[in-house]
Formats: sequence, structure tokens, C-alpha cells
Amino acid sequence: MSEPAATVKEKKKGTRAGLSGRRALPPNVSNADEDEVPTTETFGLVPRGYQPKDVLEVQDILLFNREYEINKQEHHTDKYFNLKLIVRRGQPFYMQIHFNRPYNPEKDQFWIEYVIGRYPQSNKGTYIQVPLVQELQSGKWGYKINRSEDRYVSLTVMSAPNCIVGKFRMYVAILTDMGIHRTRRNPETDTYILFNPWCTEDAVFLDDEAERQEYVLNDLGTIFYGDPTNIRTRSWNFGQYEEGILDACLYLMDRAQLDLSGRGNPVKISRVGSAVINSKDDEGVIVGSWDNSYDYGVPPSTWTGSVDILLEYHSSKQPVRYGQCWVFAGVFNTFLRCIGIPGRVVTNYSSAHDNDANLQLDIFLDEEGQVDSKLTKDSVWNYHCWNEAWMSRPDLPVGFGGWQVVDSTPQENSDGMYRCGPASVQAIKHGHVCFQFDSPFVFAEVNSDVVYSRALKNGRKVVGLVDKTQIGKLILTKEVGVDGMKDITGQYKFQEGTEEERLALETALMYGVKKDITQDITASAEVDMDFVVEDAALGSDFSVTITFRNNTQTRCAVTSFLSGHVVFYTGVPKSEFKNYSSDVNLEPLQSQTVEVLIKSSEYMSQLLEQAALHFFVTARVKETGKILAKQKAASLKIPQLLLKVPGEKVVGKEMAVMVEFVNPLKQKLANVLLRLDGPGLLNPISKKFKEIPRNSTLTWEEKCVPRKAGPRKLIASLNCDALRHVYGELDIDIQSAV
Ligand code: CA
Ligand code: CA
Ligand code: CA
Repeated sequence: MSEPAATVKEKKKGTRAGLSGRRALPPNVSNADEDEVPTTETFGLVPRGYQPKDVLEVQDILLFNREYEINKQEHHTDKYFNLKLIVRRGQPFYMQIHFNRPYNPEKDQFWIEYVIGRYPQSNKGTYIQVPLVQELQSGKWGYKINRSEDRYVSLTVMSAPNCIVGKFRMYVAILTDMGIHRTRRNPETDTYILFNPWCTEDAVFLDDEAERQEYVLNDLGTIFYGDPTNIRTRSWNFGQYEEGILDACLYLMDRAQLDLSGRGNPVKISRVGSAVINSKDDEGVIVGSWDNSYDYGVPPSTWTGSVDILLEYHSSKQPVRYGQCWVFAGVFNTFLRCIGIPGRVVTNYSSAHDNDANLQLDIFLDEEGQVDSKLTKDSVWNYHCWNEAWMSRPDLPVGFGGWQVVDSTPQENSDGMYRCGPASVQAIKHGHVCFQFDSPFVFAEVNSDVVYSRALKNGRKVVGLVDKTQIGKLILTKEVGVDGMKDITGQYKFQEGTEEERLALETALMYGVKKDITQDITASAEVDMDFVVEDAALGSDFSVTITFRNNTQTRCAVTSFLSGHVVFYTGVPKSEFKNYSSDVNLEPLQSQTVEVLIKSSEYMSQLLEQAALHFFVTARVKETGKILAKQKAASLKIPQLLLKVPGEKVVGKEMAVMVEFVNPLKQKLANVLLRLDGPGLLNPISKKFKEIPRNSTLTWEEKCVPRKAGPRKLIASLNCDALRHVYGELDIDIQSAV
């Protein structure tokens, strides 16, 4: 966990004035207000007192004035009650540096540094050297000079969309004849970097402005409680902008000892958050109490928001008394939104707590038919609140990103700590609970069967009634933009009473039940099932072929369901575009296929830039009740541009370049922008075409005169609303003129 101390060199004496006698901080503390600067091979210092006249020197760094106030507006951080610069990663921001003399781009060289933690290292992302670039590139750190007037230089800085989230110290480093001259530590230039749901490359990218306004920026919320026939609401002040809250939220990551290098990853942060919000194991934020005794604290119902709790915890460093599920969820939601992870509070009515992890809610009755409270360890909560956090899941197969359940109420131990999630809501719905973290537990909360068993005197238990619909009666969250309730039960489970709901449950039992519990429901060996998604071009119809093979000597019947989703390239599902069920009768040892036709009209209107799709297929063998489940990602082929140079390719002679494009879609393309570039051959040219009719071919010809002989490349791209990521290129060899 800790960085080796040997990598840190002491700065020369005299530059650390006032720092002696500080208590040593653990290596993971991000808010360390130490002024160590990173050391690199080329690091040097200007001897004290030596100041040649023409050495460039920083006089002041301006992050705020009328012009730079725009930083906070553009980054949606203007509401934070905090005087320091707060920006979101992967998005440019501005600053101005005042030097002691005019900056000379020919001679002077400087760069910006962001540093976090005690032992900054570039390979851990805790020391960032921001280089000067000609053009800012998304995905990479860099700064660009916009204007240089007299002694003032205006810059745009771009941060990487996966960098650490936290409070950075900032320095300007100038390369001089005497080595690197770095600005002194100045707390006023400290910069907070947050997650960025507005940035397509950020793992928390959320593609809807109204949802971003609600799930990131709204500091007020509604929490539902009561029961489904008497739904009650409570407003909650998340208060993520209040003074001190951002620092208190960042402190939670220090407190949880999350390694700094993991603080750019929402999967790790939300998992750590679910542990540190409760006081169990780690002296975390809130002490839970459910027994009506609230000594040395206040009853959970007293709280109206997260602010008091977080501020008290940050200042006292002691757990705050007391909370129940909605308090844990309210405070966790503040943490998520404050650092920029989209989050919402969810209420599940009739929520099962499956104590023994067999994915069923077991109620044991005695001989008289009374509930045996000694044997019965599972319980049903009238309602239970948790959080959902929005993120991609690069650690899981495609299709399981999006909303993830995270729950900080201490219920069950997960890998040694009271924490829960992130668990993919999509995986829970389909019963694919093999995917981490804690999805079997969450599945049981929303869709386990209640099984009533009777214990007989001889120790045997007989299963009596099974209630398949009691658990997960209704799942609610606040509506986007207004105060009403949004029913999201359908995102967690198929409708009760349907075959698909049963199949999801049985898939979950197959994947999620610990081995020592005997279950009749296992994957079928008698019948094999697999499916293939036809390799298809975007805009065309294609088929998904499901194959069943009966390995036994008896006939059997299989019912199958296919569910197709459009997904973002990050693996986050956007919407379901296909739902299909079929019945197949298999003769002994026979194979049979089901071909499901997917029409372009079914997916085209919902398709996203990179044309990625995801399919679930589940099936059940009628005779044995055994189930089969598979899921696969597929992507449609995006059409290409064809580049041609039909004539001669000679230096100094006019050369024709043709760009051809066949519109493969059954729709016309509007406002199409084509771009052609050929380094050393022609300057980039753009051309707009108002319309390309369906199934038609477009030809665009440009002329140029090659200036130099040798191998060259032509590159073209096409963009319009319905179609992106269309490229083409051509390698050519330019002959020298005779
Ligand atoms: Ca804890
Ligand atoms: Ca159980
Ligand atoms: Ca059910």
C-alpha cells in the first residue's frame, strides 16, 4: 500500500522553513498540506540568493478573476462553497501566469505540476507533469498557451479523464540554466479534481443532461419509506456544496486508507465508500442502531440531511450516533455526488435479508405452525434503502455497466468487512449473480422466494408454502427534475408471474448459491445451449441463432428468452431493443436451432456511436426444470470510406483524390461532414453534404499537388448524427519528378 520512502529526496534546507516538527502522516493521506515537491532525475535547485536578471520567474498565478470564474461554471462546480479551484477531469480549464518579464517561447520553458499525497510518483498518478502541447488532446494531460501579452501568459489546461480524484497541490516549474526552478507551495492554487459525468471518456459518463442535473448536481432529495400501500416520503438535504463537505468527503477516502492510485476508479471508490459510511470494522461515519436505544446520540429520525453528520465526523474523527438505512443511504449519496459520481437513493419495499446466502428467504415454523424464531435467521424488512452509483464496469463483461447497487447499511460481511457492492443492476435482473460484488445478496433482497418450512420433531424439515411474489414488491427512487416517485422495479426484476422472472431466479440460484447447500436447480447437462450473433453491418437486418442439443435418449421441450440491449462502448446498457421467446421440442440426441431475426428498424433509432450490442439468452428444459444461461456482446460493422487516387502520383503534378461512401442505411443521412487530410500532400479539407439518400453512393473529388516524393497517407472521416466513427485511409507512394 505505501510508497517506498526511499524515492523521496529531501529538499535543501532553508526551503522547508516552518515545516519541522510536523507529525508524520500516513502515505495515503491526500490532504497532506506538506510542501514536498517531486524529485526527478533532472531535478535541481537554484541556489539561494542567486538570481540572474533574465531568469524567468513566476510572480503570481491567477485561477480566478472575472475571466476565470468561467472555470467553475463550465465544470458545474460553481455551487461549491469553497474558494479554491474545483474542476472535473477530462475537461479543459483556464489560468493565467504572471512572470517577472515577458515570456519568450523560443527560449523559455516551463510546465505545470499537480501533486497529491506524501510521496508523489508519476507512475502512481500522484505526480503529474503537464507538458506544453500544440493542440490539447482529449484523454491526456497537456497545456496550451492561448495568449502571451507582456508578462502575462494565458493557458488552457487539459486533465486526463482517468486521473486521481482529490485535492492537488499545484506548482509551476521553469527550466533554467541552473536547473529546475519551482514555485513555492501556495495553498491558494490548490486544485480539486472531481469525476466528470459530462466527459464521454470518464468512467462515470452519463449521457443525459436532465439526469446529470438530478444525480450529480441536485443537493436535495426525496427518500421513500413506509410500505407499498402507504408510501411515505422524507426530504433529505444531501448538502454536497456546503462549506467543508468536499473536504469531509475526501477525508473518507483517507480514513478508509484507499490507496491514492485507486482514487480515479469509481468501482474501488464506491466499494470503499460502502464500508466507511458505517462504523463497523473501521470506525466509519455512522453507528447503526435498530433497538430503540439511542444513548450518547440522537435517534436516526432526527437527521434531516447529511451535512451535520459529515462535518461532525470530519472534526471529531469519531463515529456519529445513530443511523438506520435511510441515513446511511443519504450520507453515502452526498459522498457520491460531491466527488462527481452520479448517485441516487433507492427504496426496496419488502426487502429480504438472506442471512445464510441460499438466495431464499427461509421461515421455519414449529409443529404448531408458529414461526420458530430460533431457527429463522432470515428477515424481511418493510423497506430498505440503498444507493445506486452510475459507472462503467471494465472489470465485468460488456453489458453490466450503468447503475450499480452500493449499500452502506451494515447487513452482511463481504470479504471480511461490512460493505456491499458495486453490484450491476442489469446482472441482478437477469440472475447473472456470478459478477462481483455481492450481487447474490442484492438479488435475494429484491427477488428471492419466501420458503416456509416446518421442522418436525425428528429433525427433518418439510417445505410447505412458497411465496414467489412477496419480496421486492416495489422499488422506488425520486423522479428526475421533479419531486415525484419513479418506479424502477422493472430495472431489477422481470414482472412477477412471468416465465422470465422464474428463469432469472433459477439462473441466480445456479450461479449464486454456495456449494454446501443442496439445490435441485443446477445447470442442465442434458441439453446444451449456445448462440451466435451474425456478423452484420450497421443498418442491416441480421439474425441471432440459438442452438439447442438434446444429449439424452428422451424427448424434451425447451423454452427460451432472448433479450437484446444497445450498449455504450463502455459496456453501460442504454435500452432494450429486442425481447423474444420461443419453444423448441427436441427429439432424442437431436440438435435444433432457433433463428431470431433482428431488423435494423428495431435497433437503429437507439443505436449509439460505436454500434455495440449485448444479448442475454436464458432457457429452461420443461421436463427437468433445469436452466441454461448465456450472454454475449456484439458490435455491428461500421461502413468505411473508400479512398482512391486513379491517376499518376508525381511531385509537382496535379493529383486527384476520390473519396467514396455507400450509405448502407435504410434512411437518408442529413448534414454529413466529410474530412480529408493528407500530411505533406494537402491541408485538411472539410466538405458538408446536406443529404445522402438511402442506399446511394457519394463521390467527392479533391485535387492536390504533391510537394515531396516518398510514402504518404491519405485519411478521411465522415460524421453525421446517425453515423459516426466512419473512416478510410490509403497509403500511396509519390514518385519524384523526372
Ligand atoms: Ca465500516
Ligand atoms: Ca436464506
Ligand atoms: Ca419474485
